[in-house]
Amino acid sequence: MSLNPHDPAPASAPPGCAVHIRGLTHVFSGNAAPVVALSAIDLDIPAGGHVALMGPSGAGKSTLLSLVGGLDRPQRGELRVGRHDLARLSGDALAAYRRTTVGFVFQHFGLLDLLSARENVELALALADVPLHERHQRAGALLEGVGLGRRADHRPSALSGGERQRVAIARALANNPGLILADEPTGNLDAQTAMLVLELLERVHREQGCTLVVVTHNQAVAERADHRYLVDAGKLVA
Ligand code: ADP
Ligand code: MG
Repeated sequence: MSLNPHDPAPASAPPGCAVHIRGLTHVFSGNAAPVVALSAIDLDIPAGGHVALMGPSGAGKSTLLSLVGGLDRPQRGELRVGRHDLARLSGDALAAYRRTTVGFVFQHFGLLDLLSARENVELALALADVPLHERHQRAGALLEGVGLGRRADHRPSALSGGERQRVAIARALANNPGLILADEPTGNLDAQTAMLVLELLERVHREQGCTLVVVTHNQAVAERADHRYLVDAGKLVA
């Protein structure tokens, strides 16, 4: 079964987004002492590539992901994702970029516990302007695609960590993203569940052709990427 009811034929899957970064610098100011979170990062990820970012806590990995995902604005340097020049997008265009181009997967899942698994996915479809009458069926199909069709009406609190992350992946796929950004997606999972979740992300990557960026502390997870980069003290080391 296809992972995404938007695009059931893998052969016609849209190519993933290439990422082009030059001299990307990010400083958190407004504190007593400004924090240089990223310092002149250069990085190219080809369309449909799979890269892993590793590095110690506080190194700047999440900051880099939040900039690439349009959650924060580039302050200095070039940042292009597919046809989008993120430094030049208006606030509305950046919001549209987040909704239509990027799928986020987080360590702590980021699901709303007042909603069922299906409603969590429906919410993402609603944000992508999918008509009301299509959302229910499509959310069900997305959950089916991650092997959770029978748990669609359960709340996240009734699901295991691995199942919650699969719901989060279904939600990330709702907009048929060209880019999936996963920030320590297996950080809260045991080794075996971590590999199942990673295999699911890899299947999405393969079938949808989307570009996949995974931040991880797990060497085995990183080994599976095409390229691994080390982020250390705001710099891309390798
Ligand atoms: P990582 O994901 O590699 O652990 P982060 O990107 O979260 O690292 O953080 C990089 C640096 O930026 C850290 O020193 C962190 O304390 C700082 N930082 C992150 N977000 C903010 C913020 N909103 N305000 C101030 N400093 C921040
Ligand atoms: Mg982080």
